[in-house]
Amino acid sequence: MDASRIADAVAAERDRATALFDALRRDGLDEPGVSRDPYGAGEQRAHATVAAAARSLGLEISGDAAANLYMTLPGRDRTANSIIVGSHLDSVPHGGNFDGAAGVVAGLVAAAALRRLGIPLACDLTVMGIRAEESIWFQVSYIGSRGALGTLPDGALEVRRIDTGRSLAEHIAECGGNPDALRAGARHLDPARLRAYLELHIEQAPSLVEAGRPVAICTGIPGNFRYPDARIEGSNDHVGLPRRFRRDAALAGAEFAMALDKMWEEHDAKSIPMACTIGRFHTDPAQHGMTIVPGTFHFSLDVRAYDETVLAALDARVDAIIAGIEQHRGVRFHRGPKARAAVGPVDSTIRQALTEGAAALGLPTLDLGSPASHDAAAFAAVGVPMGMIFVRNANGSHNPNEAMTIDDFLAGTALLTWWLAQNAG
Ligand SMILES: [Zn+2]
Repeated sequence: MDASRIADAVAAERDRATALFDALRRDGLDEPGVSRDPYGAGEQRAHATVAAAARSLGLEISGDAAANLYMTLPGRDRTANSIIVGSHLDSVPHGGNFDGAAGVVAGLVAAAALRRLGIPLACDLTVMGIRAEESIWFQVSYIGSRGALGTLPDGALEVRRIDTGRSLAEHIAECGGNPDALRAGARHLDPARLRAYLELHIEQAPSLVEAGRPVAICTGIPGNFRYPDARIEGSNDHVGLPRRFRRDAALAGAEFAMALDKMWEEHDAKSIPMACTIGRFHTDPAQHGMTIVPGTFHFSLDVRAYDETVLAALDARVDAIIAGIEQHRGVRFHRGPKARAAVGPVDSTIRQALTEGAAALGLPTLDLGSPASHDAAAFAAVGVPMGMIFVRNANGSHNPNEAMTIDDFLAGTALLTWWLAQNAG
């Protein structure tokens, strides 16, 4: 199939894509930005809107115990291993409209374009609207995708949403899922029955803006280790206490942050990609005050890298930094629960094919390690061949100022559709 015909068929879906993005924005509007709370009203409305759009395209609709949404364009052989194109439909509070949703809309546009081109599919193509990817709400990553794959971590169903205080199990049940089946280890998707998982996502850093290119081909998704709720215990003391007697938890926190930044700087100098983020960093508001030496300090930590060996070395380094600070400041770090996500390797065959597709489409691309975590990593972790396409987006994500143009979206979706035409056709 001529690449320009594929690009034209995708471009012909511009109005459908725009209307769907507009509807999703209306559904999630929560000024400033959109809030699609996972297993809550915001995400529910997005699922209903996307399912209606899929129905109008004649796709088959189904669900699973984690209440994910599957929208399938049937292939000639219904028993053949299938292809999934997906992304998540939840958002952070007051986030942007495109983070996650763009990948689902891309899947629907690709299905519509393939149908428009009259390309018969050899196997089923399923567009997946994934639940609860944003870990800010339940502090567990990839809930929907890992729920579908039967790889949710122990205890995940008992964690509570930070705003409602209610358990993940309760939220899932409310949205038509089956937490008991998930608890029993049920899986809806058998990795051995999947040919590939592809995801289109807005870029969450300005690399494509900087390079002046519309689309990037993902080289890998970082793994991470996280302490969502850590604290440092020292001693609350009077402002007059001499330094040698102090056990200042806030200064211990400051020293910890600077040591992590130094660790990152060293890795940057060696061109080893990683990142560390202290999203929460504060004294205890119930106790702090201008004339009190802080005895308690709270923080969260996310450390990520693209290589399991690098990640393990960073983990050990963080332990060593903590041990050093505890010793010379007389404080104790209570790290609380630790969460992990494995590195998500991109399938080299898919990556190569996407590079060829971009050349055929005349699309300038960039090879890019994903700055962020994605459901695609959960698929890669169970051995499903995985690939990702990033679309240029100014102003980052997790904020209302995301700026993806519809032209760039259609360019990325043309590449996705090209790959599907080659591999499912
Ligand atoms: Zn996302």
